[in-house]
Amino acid sequence: MLVSVDCGAVALRLDGKLLARDVEQRLHELIARFQSDAGRPPGLAVLRVGDDPASAVYVANKDKACQRVGIASQVAHLEGTTPADEVLTTIQRLNADPAVDGILLQLPLPAGLDEGPLLRAIDPEKDADGLHTLNLGKLVKGEPGPRSCTPAGVMAMLRQNGIDPAGKRAVVIGRSILVGQPMALMLQAANATVTIAHSRTADLAAHTREAEILVVAAGRPGFVGAEHVRPGAAVVDVGIHRKPEGGLCGDVRAAEVEPIAGALSPVPGGVGPMTVTMLLVNTVVAWCRTHGLEHDLDDLVP
Ligand code: NAD
Repeated sequence: MLVSVDCGAVALRLDGKLLARDVEQRLHELIARFQSDAGRPPGLAVLRVGDDPASAVYVANKDKACQRVGIASQVAHLEGTTPADEVLTTIQRLNADPAVDGILLQLPLPAGLDEGPLLRAIDPEKDADGLHTLNLGKLVKGEPGPRSCTPAGVMAMLRQNGIDPAGKRAVVIGRSILVGQPMALMLQAANATVTIAHSRTADLAAHTREAEILVVAAGRPGFVGAEHVRPGAAVVDVGIHRKPEGGLCGDVRAAEVEPIAGALSPVPGGVGPMTVTMLLVNTVVAWCRTHGLEHDLDDLVP
């Protein structure tokens, strides 16, 4: 049930950090329970090409998260000048490595490397990011498979906070393959009536003001304000931006939206931590599948 809050009240905080900690605890226990049956821990390989500084931070965070739950993580770091066929060879090596259950190609790649063929080269069974064409197709068809981490994290946050999309009007701002498209599909699979808004949408606010669930993934700092939000709506801010003065902000002007919304995810501490956690979930689910182990993580795989 959507939490309805009068204007002027403080919105329910969709706390991704707290939920991430709970899910990590579940993963930790599951790995501890099954590790001797499997004969090895789950393995996640992160492939990083070049020296993008933001990527370095993300990769380090993923590595730490793996350590917390008991996933063996390895980072393959190639120089920014590495030719595509050499990156491909590394992906093929990881595909063939029996200790690796999940592979993540850290984006963005250096200019000159086309991510499309490299993402397609990842074994779909080991696609920790859930972005392989085959796995996006499985999402469309409602078949099990690894799910795109950011929207799957959003679905977990809604569920955790008792916000059931069934029968609700949802608007997703953004139509990227990384966030917007799979987000809309997951909300639709959860029986919401979904509108996707994008850079060519006319009168955006007229659409978003109808939304009982509003997911904002426009990649534009402070883009969504009070004029876009229906009173009592659940607003999920996917955007993440470094402020020139330091610190992070999202796509939503939180101070303005908070008194209107029924629920709001903070930046930082909202969608970001859950994105990392879902990477771990996809890896552990793949490990369980490989070893014929029954897991209890279905609620996290929308
Ligand atoms: P993107 O640039 O690929 O897509 C942005 C989308 O927003 C596009 O589909 C575009 O049509 C739409 N858009 C742009 N301007 C618009 C406008 N004026 N009106 C309506 N729609 C508009 O970005 P992305 O990869 O989807 O990421 C979106 C944001 O989410 C970025 O800030 C990114 O950093 C962030 N992100 C965060 C996480 C996380 O873990 N928190 C994960 C992935 C992405």
